[in-house]
Parts: sequence; C-alpha cells; structure tokens
Amino acid sequence: MSNASIQHYINGQMTAGESNTTQEVFNPATGQVTGQVALASQADVDTAVASARSAFPAWADTPPIRRARVMFKFLELLNAHKDELAEAITREHGKVFTDAQGEVARGIDIVEFACGIPQLLKGDYTEQVSTGIDNWTTRQPLGVVAGITPFNFPAMVPMWMFPLAIAAGNSFILKPSPLDPSASLLIADLLKQAGLPDGVFNVVQGDKDSVEALIDHPDVKALSFVGSTPIANLIYERGARHGKRVQALGGAKNHMVVMPDANLDKAVDALIGAAYGSAGERCMAISVAVLVGDVADTIVPRLAERARALKVKNGLELDAEMGPIVTAQAHQRITGYIEKGVAEGAELVVDGRDFDPASTGDGCAEGFWMGGSLFDHVTPEMTIYREEIFGPVLACVRVPDIATAIQLINDHEFGNGVSCFTESGSVAREFGRRIQVGMVGINVPIPVPMAWHGFGGWKRSMFGDTHAYGEEGVRFYTKQKSIMQRWSDSIDGGAEFVMPTAK
Ligand code: NAD
Repeated sequence: MSNASIQHYINGQMTAGESNTTQEVFNPATGQVTGQVALASQADVDTAVASARSAFPAWADTPPIRRARVMFKFLELLNAHKDELAEAITREHGKVFTDAQGEVARGIDIVEFACGIPQLLKGDYTEQVSTGIDNWTTRQPLGVVAGITPFNFPAMVPMWMFPLAIAAGNSFILKPSPLDPSASLLIADLLKQAGLPDGVFNVVQGDKDSVEALIDHPDVKALSFVGSTPIANLIYERGARHGKRVQALGGAKNHMVVMPDANLDKAVDALIGAAYGSAGERCMAISVAVLVGDVADTIVPRLAERARALKVKNGLELDAEMGPIVTAQAHQRITGYIEKGVAEGAELVVDGRDFDPASTGDGCAEGFWMGGSLFDHVTPEMTIYREEIFGPVLACVRVPDIATAIQLINDHEFGNGVSCFTESGSVAREFGRRIQVGMVGINVPIPVPMAWHGFGGWKRSMFGDTHAYGEEGVRFYTKQKSIMQRWSDSIDGGAEFVMPTAK
C-alpha cells in the first residue's frame, strides 16, 4: 500500500491544512508505515470551526424531515460501502475483518435511529396552562459541536455522535484518533454524496493540540469525548471551566461473574470471545473473570486450552479470531503489565508473549503480535487487577460467593460494563439491582446497548450527565426551550405584581 497522505476534511474539501506536521500511520499486522496523517494546527482548527459555524444557521433551519432524508441517503450509501469501511479499519487498527464489519453494523444502527429525528425532536404541549394561555417545549440545536474519538472504534464511536448531532441540526467537527484516521474520511465522503451541505460535517486530524484548541474555542458549544479516563477527566474539567456541555466516556475494567450454576460451556465461550476479541482493545472487553465457589477449578483449564488455540493472524484472513496489537508502544505497555502480574504473584497460566509472529502468515513477521494471556489467582491489590490493560489479558479472581463478587466489582474505580452468568433468576435480579456499573449483561458477555437505549458507564468510566446516543444523545445535542403564549383577546387589563399562577 502507498504511503498515503491522510488529510483534514473542512467545508466539503480534503485539505492538507496549514501545519506541516504529520504522524506515521501503521498497518499493525505488517508493522509497515502506510500513511502520514496531518496534525492540525490552531489555525486549522479555527478554519474548521469557522466553516462549521457558517454552515450552522441554514442547516438548523432546515426542516427535520429534510435533515432525516439526508440521513436516509447516508444510510443507503453506508450499507453499500460497509465492507470498504471495514477493510480500512482492519488495515489501520488490526482487528479482524468480521469484527470490523460488526463495528460498522453497530454504527449503522445509530444512523437508522437518527433517521427518526422528526419524531425524536417532537416537543410537549399543554393547552390552557392558565385561562387563555398555552405552554409548549421544543428542543433546538446547540451550534458547532465536536467529537473526539479513540483508536479502538474508528467508525462506530464517531457514529455514536455525529448522526444524532447533525440530524438534530448542529454542525459537527470530528477529531479522530491519529492511529487509524482513514475511516473518518470515507465517512466524510459518503456524507457529501448523501447531500449534506458543506461545513456541516468536518474532520480535523490531530492529537492533544487540536483537542485543546477545540475545547478552548468559544464557538464550540459542546464536546463528546470517548477515550481513556485520564484524558476524559481532563476534557470534562477543561470544557466545564468554559461553560460547555461535555460528555466524556473513559476507560474500563469489565468483570464477568461466573456462578457455580452457570452453563459453563456458554460461560467459557463468552469469556474467550469477550477477553480476546479485538485483542482486548474494547472498552466493553471482559478483562476480569470473577469465579465463584469451585467454578475456577473447572473453568481455568478450559480457558487455558482455548486461549492457547486462538487463531491469531492478519485480520484480513477470514478465519482470524484475533489480530495484532494496534501499535508497538501498546504492545510494550501490555507486555509490561504481564511482567508486573508475574512479579506481584499472580499465576501466569498462558503467556501471550510466547507467541511466534512467524505463524501469522506472509509479510507479517514485523507486525505487533502477541497471543492471549491468562492469569489465575489474581487479587484486588495487584496492578493487573486495578488498572486497565487494554490488551488480550484475562485475569481470574476467585471469590467464595455472589455477595463478595458484587462488593469486589462495586469497589473498583471503573464501572463501564459487567456481566453475570447464572441460571438463577433471583441471583440475576439481585445482581442487576445491586451492581454499581452502567451497562449490565445477564448471560450476555458484552452488553453494548442498542441504538435507542444509550451507552454510558458509571464511576470513573464516564464524566457528564447524558449518555451517548439514544434519547440521551438527542438531549445532549439539543437544548430545551419553553414557550408560553397568550393572545390579546384573553388578556385581563392592568399590571400584575404577584407571581403569576394558574387562573
Ligand atoms: P486516548 O485517551 O489515548 O485517546 C482518545 C482521544 O483523545 C484521541 O482522539 C486522542 O488523539 C486524544 N488525546 C490523546 N491524548 C490527549 C491529551 N493529552 N489531551 C487531549 N486529547 C488527547 O484513548 P485511546 O488509546 O485512543 O483509546 C482507548 C481508550 O478509550 C481505553 O481507555 C478505552 O477503555 C477507552 N474507550 C472507552 C469507551 C467508552 O465508551 N467508555 C469506548 C471506546 C474506548
């Protein structure tokens, strides 16, 4: 593949921007540089915001049904180009093609939801709140809004944001991860083909500097962020200082509890898929198995056998189960965690560092490869239990009962996703009620909510009040206005000096 120049998309045009700074983009399967992504300067961000700002009034004034028609056309185009998008994701992220297809499909769900924007924006109306007076509420767009997204879902996470933001009448600036920036430009092209007016959707490529320029820009009214917790926290605080609306979704340490009565075949399948799928680089990956009672003795050997047998290869090969790690730096970070786990006394049952890259196929020996790792006898004070590893490492913690399992999970600083495998309705009910986590699965390992339900964690997995997408997303990208109206023939004469009450 050529060493492509990956640019910004501003006011309906690809542009290299004013800065001469670029960053290398890799194919993690081969370890080769495939492109150079531009890194926006303050001036580039200013140009993008100015373009979004000038496009806003006409777009906000466009009837919602016409905005929905652009979304319908975009949906049609996305469906026609979904494999192209998935392939671009695999080439820069490394996840297996079928998983990239799944990512695109879950993004498409949100576009389908956004097509219903006329219904979603319907306000409330009360006739006769007082004699001759009616009152209604309506929701109006905010203006220019920005989305800052992580490397691990370069198509789906932006689609958690811009379809609803745009359908609700805002203009949008996407700042994707510089690790896998190409999906953002394919999306921009499809939106243009769908008839979206220039300036309503813009992409600025970049990293920290461009994010700070967006947060501090007075014309950016709201920020949606998805990424790691330290950055989410920073963005929330800095955005709030400027009086902006911020939703900042952070990191995770997702537990899966396996009860002694669970269907263990299903639990093993669920753990293997959710721990090692996408090489554990999912915010909803399961990274801790909480094994209750004597379950560990049965399940750990079965997990070990399956972890050793994972088909780790170039994600473009259709039978691949796990691809490479996204970057050499991430590979090093994960290796460091494995070393720490061993040093702190956990039992390393399967060591992914032993993986032989030569087994991954032609041209891949220089890629960022490792196999799945499995730890047993992990305890809550260990670093590999407390911190997010974001790699293919599963930690097994043994607990005596469900009450201890719930307490363990509730004490963790993260609260993104969680799951419980059991055949008991009362355990499931109690678990769902007591657990301090935003998204809960019962016999479902990765309970990512559907488009109309909204996505968000608790505790330090999310900063802000409204979750991503669903009706919460519509609320985030709009502000409520209440209008109370009386016409002159119902007005009684004279000034009123008391607080008005219903008459
Ligand atoms: P990251 O925090 O490094 O980067 C996220 C975004 O922030 C990127 O666009 C990046 O360019 C930008 N950024 C990086 N450093 C910055 C800084 N100092 N100041 C301002 N902006 C900065 O995250 P990542 O490595 O791309 O993604 C993985 C992380 O995202 C994991 O922690 C994962 O759990 C989390 N994640 C969370 C969710 C969720 O819904 N809660 C979903 C996906 C990923």
